[in-house]
Amino acid sequence: MLAQLSYGENTLQNYKNTIHQSSLSLQKLPVLHDSNKNKDGSLKVNKGIDQPTSFNPDAKKRLAKTRKQSLDAASLMNGILNGNRTLLSRAITLVESSLSEHHQVAQQVIEKCIPHSGNSIRVGITGVPGVGKSTFIEALGLSLTKKGHKLAVLAIDPSSEKTKGSILGDKTRMEDLSNDHNAFIRPSPSAGSLGGVARKTKEIIVLCEAAGFDIIFVETVGVGQSETAVHSMVDFFLLLMLAGAGDELQGIKRGIMEMADAIVINKADGDNIDKAKMASKEYENALHLYPPAPSGWFPIVKTCSARTKSGIDEVWETIEKYIQLTKENGFFKQKRQEQELRIMFESIHSQLQESFYSDARITKLLNSSRQRVLSGQVSAYREAAMLLEKYFGKK
Ligand code: GDP
Repeated sequence: MLAQLSYGENTLQNYKNTIHQSSLSLQKLPVLHDSNKNKDGSLKVNKGIDQPTSFNPDAKKRLAKTRKQSLDAASLMNGILNGNRTLLSRAITLVESSLSEHHQVAQQVIEKCIPHSGNSIRVGITGVPGVGKSTFIEALGLSLTKKGHKLAVLAIDPSSEKTKGSILGDKTRMEDLSNDHNAFIRPSPSAGSLGGVARKTKEIIVLCEAAGFDIIFVETVGVGQSETAVHSMVDFFLLLMLAGAGDELQGIKRGIMEMADAIVINKADGDNIDKAKMASKEYENALHLYPPAPSGWFPIVKTCSARTKSGIDEVWETIEKYIQLTKENGFFKQKRQEQELRIMFESIHSQLQESFYSDARITKLLNSSRQRVLSGQVSAYREAAMLLEKYFGKK
């Protein structure tokens, strides 16, 4: 996973630097076997072997080829449709890249993959750190792949500025699942704005579906806003909780509980079984206070143990029931359509914002506008209107 993470322009740049430095140092090396030059010198140099190059002479060619391949939308798409994981990973790297050159190719690949996407069950999984998300995903994931499903696990972790999104790349997480050829685990795109990370994750879902993954798990690693983002891209939203962790109903924000299609109390094993059952009753009572969901589904509360695997398959049965119900009553399709529209509007907002703040006319004016508003010379509203008029070319 770490290797996948570091793949990309950084690696290519390092590669290029190595080649550049190597060829420079090669020019300075003495040619050892040219004994004529040293004929009269006090040092006698015996004929030896040529100094071996410190880099593979084919590397430049291979590098160019790799780069060409990675930028060729058609071959990426064919590879993805054939389930080629290397090319899938490469396409994902392009989606995550901030280079506009990569972005363009990624968009072409996504466009081509869209007709082949949409056929999976998308499940969001969230819960505080330590609740057992990765143990749960591994237990459920292995059970699903055993049944012949192909599972992709993605993560949303916009807060991972320090870890650079490597949480899922930690080798100790989901070790068995990472070695399962029916599973594909991809760490969170490296840190960025939540909107950016969410959009990229949605695009990665499209690529994974086109590659034949019929179940997608989106894990939320952070606690807070990212749950809303995940909720807006999945069919089913699962909240993992713990029993007896202090004031239970305070542990997680009310809004997140309201979004959940199922609350699963993990670690229901050993001495914890009774506590988990009690917590389960409390959550059921709490959920009864919420208004009925437009899906026609009433959120389910269950207990499980990701460690002993008890209750894990029942969680999947619940998800299947939800999918069946919402496909029958039309909510499944309606929700996906609404999610697409939301992405469109969010893209408009973010692109307008980006364009506004990078506009040379605006950047020149912003500082003085800030000062004028701070000193109370003009109202914030009027200053904003003036800047927008400048941006849209009215003044
Ligand atoms: P995450 O941070 O939410 O991904 O949590 P992890 O899956 O890393 O689990 C945190 C800790 O809880 C680890 O030490 C796990 O072994 C433990 N754990 C996870 N699931 C269970 C469970 O069902 N029962 C028990 N007893 N421990 C568990």
